[in-house]
Amino acid sequence: MHELNDTIKPLQDWGMFDTFPVVISGPCSAETKEQVLATAKGLENKDKHVQIFRAGVWKPRTRPGSFEGVGVEALPWLTEVKKETGYLTCVEVATANHVYESLKHNVDILWLGARTTVNPFAVQEIADAIKGIDIPVMIKNPINPDFKLWLGAIERIAKSGIDRIAGIHRGFSSATSGRFRNAPMWAIPIEMKRTLPNMAMICDPSHICGKRDLLQDVSQTSLDLAFDGLMIEAHPDPEKAWSDAAQQVTPDNLMVMLDNLKLRDTETKETNMLEVFRSEIDSIDTEIMDALAKRISVVEKIAQHKKDKNLSILQMNRWEALLNEKIGLGQRMGLEADFIKKIYQEIHINSIKTQKAIITSKGDENS
Ligand code: PEP
Ligand code: MN
Repeated sequence: MHELNDTIKPLQDWGMFDTFPVVISGPCSAETKEQVLATAKGLENKDKHVQIFRAGVWKPRTRPGSFEGVGVEALPWLTEVKKETGYLTCVEVATANHVYESLKHNVDILWLGARTTVNPFAVQEIADAIKGIDIPVMIKNPINPDFKLWLGAIERIAKSGIDRIAGIHRGFSSATSGRFRNAPMWAIPIEMKRTLPNMAMICDPSHICGKRDLLQDVSQTSLDLAFDGLMIEAHPDPEKAWSDAAQQVTPDNLMVMLDNLKLRDTETKETNMLEVFRSEIDSIDTEIMDALAKRISVVEKIAQHKKDKNLSILQMNRWEALLNEKIGLGQRMGLEADFIKKIYQEIHINSIKTQKAIITSKGDENS
């Protein structure tokens, strides 16, 4: 356990919620006043599932020219949501100015996005801006799977005197494109929970999944792993959303999803570590598959080159050398020589088949 743990209040002591898990919902981005209010109205009063309304006001986008958020103009829309529905509101802040503007407009909870947590200068700027202010702060994991960077951001915010802190798990960027937009790597948020047991852990299935049809499954997994809440993006017309269209759901569909979630008792939560290990195996299998697909695409380039230069497909010396090198590499990693040999024989047969198909094909794609 980390010394910080004692300074962090569990969600139950925030004085804000009486039902758990806590559900946060709202659009990825506040687009127009109508869209914000329509989302809030859509989420309202349906068995009081949703307790906090989220909306991105300043959007960190990968490339310039994409919709970068409405900015301060959207903050009064959130005040209106509060007035009309009684929801608590939360907003992503990435600079000191975002903090000042949000506080000026009585936003209830601030959150740090994955692209902010990754940058200690940005986190420190925010920590300095909220010093002495009593406001809850939720901290998303950094984009890269760096546990210490996440913990460091939590420490910076805690050092500013903030005691209502929650973590948000939104998955991690990884070189391999699996089913997920951001690989869940459940072991990392679970390690955070072990390090800071007082700190609530919210799961953000929207940014993990990147597409609607995976949300139910990932939300259930997070509850099975004893997460304390969910943050799920909702939009009245998801297909037309100005950001993250593929992952947003209508408020009605969100309600159906939430109704279908099974809350587990503590005992079941314990045994579901199996789920963590399975998801690790899943990501590794995705990496293996991704590597094989990448390998084949290079083989195709080689085949085209051999065809152009009129070279033979099988170059025995190269194959012998490659096999011995791989067996040696595998052995240094603790893998049996025979296992590696069998795998590489199959890979090699497939490679020859792929090359043959390209070299003997009549048409030339370049013509
Ligand atoms: C968001 O919540 O819309 C967002 C930008 O998320 P993240 O920081 O997790 O990418
Ligand atoms: Mn989003």
